[in-house]
Amino acid sequence: MTVRLRPVLGSLPSYVPGRTVPGAVKLASNETPYPPLPHVLDRIAVAAASVNRYPDNGSVAITNAIAAKYGVPADRVAIGCGSVSLCTQLVQAVADADDEVIYAWRSFEAYPIITAVSGASSVQVPLHDHVHDLDAMADRITGKTRLVFVCNPNNPTGTTVDRDALVAFLRLVPEDVVVALDEAYREFVRDPQVPDGLTLLDEHPNLVVLRTFSKAYGLAGLRVGYAIASDPAVATGLRQTQVPFAVSNVAQEAALASLEPEAEAQLAGRVDQIVGERVRVLAALSELGYAVPPSQGNFVWLPLGDDTVAWAAGCETQGVIVRAFAGSGARVTIGTAAENDRLLAAAASLVTSVTETVLPR
Ligand code: PMP
Repeated sequence: MTVRLRPVLGSLPSYVPGRTVPGAVKLASNETPYPPLPHVLDRIAVAAASVNRYPDNGSVAITNAIAAKYGVPADRVAIGCGSVSLCTQLVQAVADADDEVIYAWRSFEAYPIITAVSGASSVQVPLHDHVHDLDAMADRITGKTRLVFVCNPNNPTGTTVDRDALVAFLRLVPEDVVVALDEAYREFVRDPQVPDGLTLLDEHPNLVVLRTFSKAYGLAGLRVGYAIASDPAVATGLRQTQVPFAVSNVAQEAALASLEPEAEAQLAGRVDQIVGERVRVLAALSELGYAVPPSQGNFVWLPLGDDTVAWAAGCETQGVIVRAFAGSGARVTIGTAAENDRLLAAAASLVTSVTETVLPR
C-alpha cells in the first residue's frame, strides 16, 4: 500500500530545475544580470548575523517603507515571500473549492499550479496576438469567479494592455471579484499607454497590485514581493494566509536597503540599461527575420511553435540558456550587452532552422 496524496498533484507539471551549464550565459529566468549593490550586500551580512532569531512575522519595517514610498496606508500593504507567494495567498484568501480563477494563457506558469493546488478551478482565456484578450476574459466571469489575474506586462510574451482597455475591463468586473494586477515587470515599462496599476487603486475597490524585489531590484534569491490593495480587507486576507515567518530577516533588510534613495537611483540606472538592451535585441531579432512581439519586460518572446525545443537546444549548444515552452515559444531574458550578443549570434545561426510560418516576411 502506498500513501494517498491528493489526485490533483498527479496533474501538476513536474518541477524542471533551471539549467546551469558551465560557461553558458543564463537568459532563462528573467533575473537581472547585475550582482547586488555593495551596500545591500553589507546589510545582508549584518542581518545574517542574527539568523538565530525568527524574523518579524509582520514585516513591519518594509511594510511601512512601501506604504511611505507610494503614499498609501500601511494596512493596504502586504509583504510576501516573493510575489509568487502573494499570488498563492490571494487564491487561498478568496477561492473555495470549485470557485473559479480566471487568467490569460499563456501567462505566468505559476497561476495554473497554485490554482490547482488550492482546489479552485482555472479558467484559461487564450491570448489574442500574444496579448490579453480582456473582452473574452470579462465574458468568462460567472457567479463562481472569485479572482482574475491580469499580468501586465505578460510573462512570457512581454506584451501589455493599455490604460483604456484595462479600465474598461475593470468596469465590467463585479466588485466582489478581486482583480490581481501582476506587475512583476512594472519597472521596465516605457510605453506611456501602459498604466501604473497603483494609479487605478482609488477608482477600483476590488483591485490589488502585485510587485516584486526579484526583477528590477535584483533580489530574486532572497524572495520579497509586495501587494498594495484598494481594500485593506484584501491585505488582511494576504496576511492571514501567509506561511508564518516566510519572509526572512535577511530578505526584509535587503529590501529596505534597496529602497534607500541612492540605491533606488543606482537600480533605476541598471533598469535603463536593460531597457536599452531590450530595444536593441528586439530590433536585431526582427532584422534577422524572427517574428517577435513588442516587449515591455526584461525579456522577449519568440513564438517558434513546434520549432521551439530544437531552437532552444541550438542556443544551448552555443552556450546560451533560454526558456523553452514546448510547442509554443522561447522566452529570452535580456542580459548584459555581451550576453545579448551571444544570444543574437546563436539566433542568427539558427534562423534558417525555423519554419516559414513564424517568419512573416
Ligand atoms: N509574477 C510574474 C509575472 C513573474 O514572472 C514572476 C517571476 N517569474 C513572479 C510573479 C514571481 O516573482 P517572485 O516570486 O520572485 O517575486
